[in-house]
This record gives sequence, structure tokens and C-alpha cells, in this order.
Amino acid sequence: MASDPAALADAARALADHLRFQRALGTRDLPLAGEPLGGASSALRLVEKASSGCTKCKLSKGRTTIVFGSGDAETRLVIIGEGPGEEEDRQGKPFVGRAGQLLTKMLESVGITRDEVYICNIVKCRPPGNRNPESDEIAACAPYLSGQLAAIQPGVICTLGTFSSQHILRTREPISRLRGQLHQLGAAVVIPTFHPAFLLRNPGPAYRRQAYDDLKLIRREYDRVRGRAPAGA
Ligand code: URA
Repeated sequence: MASDPAALADAARALADHLRFQRALGTRDLPLAGEPLGGASSALRLVEKASSGCTKCKLSKGRTTIVFGSGDAETRLVIIGEGPGEEEDRQGKPFVGRAGQLLTKMLESVGITRDEVYICNIVKCRPPGNRNPESDEIAACAPYLSGQLAAIQPGVICTLGTFSSQHILRTREPISRLRGQLHQLGAAVVIPTFHPAFLLRNPGPAYRRQAYDDLKLIRREYDRVRGRAPAGA
């Protein structure tokens, strides 16, 4: 990667983004290793506080609530979706509608509960009529997501669907090419899979089977980063 000028420029931009965000939060010294200052929960609260009342993009005009994220700040597994839908906008929590119910079942199929992971989206405000998030909206929200990842420092990141996967991996590859594999992102591995809303729109065994394979990969990596023996070993 270091010899790829485009990848290097991307990495430099992401780092500059993150440092600007930390400066905006009032951070003056960054530890280069170990726990984020004050632990993951308080780091996460700082990021959430910074997002409150955000008007950085046009989605702020139509939202009821900012859907920041929910779950365990100390987790090793973060799940990243696209953007809140109607129910999420109403309740202020990610993945509480139909797609959320399927996500819960998908996680449970490999023995993972929602309480033990952290779930968030690439955009924190509902796109009108549940349209796809636009690139200026994703860019405006990116520092909040970077802040969440910097606070939690997960070992495994599961990206749901095309937008989330392409944004995190800085690629234009379709989800069908990205899923089923591990992608290294700093110290974390990224495992893209189908968005549960896509699986609801495309029922049938083929996509479900692929999604289950991805979930087994997530389970394996989640066990690995926690130093647990794989199930059945
Ligand atoms: N779809 C998403 O991508 N995120 C949610 O929070 C809900 C549905």
C-alpha cells in the first residue's frame, strides 16, 4: 500500500480529518498507543457531544433525532450501516426497524447479541424517503464515524451494504466483490456483508447463504481478537 500514491493520499486525508476532529474536541495530546484518553465510553461521549445539534449537511433539516450509535463502547466488534430510517429517526437508535430485526437475528445466528457490539451508521441523520446517502453528506459525517472508531478501537468492523463498505474501504468495488473476505484497516479487520434491507428485498437462499458465511467469518475474527478458541475447537 505504501507504494500506491492514491492510497497514501487517502490515508493522509483520513489522518488529517481525524486530527482536525480531535482538535475541534479540544484534544491537545494524542497517545500513540493504548487506551484512548479517559477510556472508550468517555471518548465516545465526547464525540457524541460534538455531534449534538450538527448542521454540517442538508440531512439536518429533515431529521427528528441524530442517531449517533448504540451498544457496548468496550466491544471489539463494530457494525456500520448506512443511515437511519423512519423508525430509527423516531427512536434515536440505529437498526430498530425491520432491517434491524433481521440484523439482530443475523448476529444471533452466530451467537452474538446486540448488547455486546456497537452499532452505528455512516450518516447519523435520516436521508429523506430513505434514499441513499449522498457523498457530501457522507463526507460531512465522516469525522463523527472516525471519532467513534478511534474511541472504541475495534478489532473487527462489519460493514453492511455498498455505501458503508465503500466508504470504510475507500473503494468503488461493489459489495458482491467486497464481501466474503477480510480487509485490513490499520489494526482492525473489515468484513463487508449484505445490508439486511437488501436481504429483505431479495429473499431466497442464495444471498442468505452468503450472508451466513460472512457472519461465520465475523464470529471467527471476533473470537480471534478476543483471544478465544474458535467454537468447536
Ligand atoms: N438501515 C441502516 O443502514 N441503518 C439503520 O440504522 C437502519 C436501517
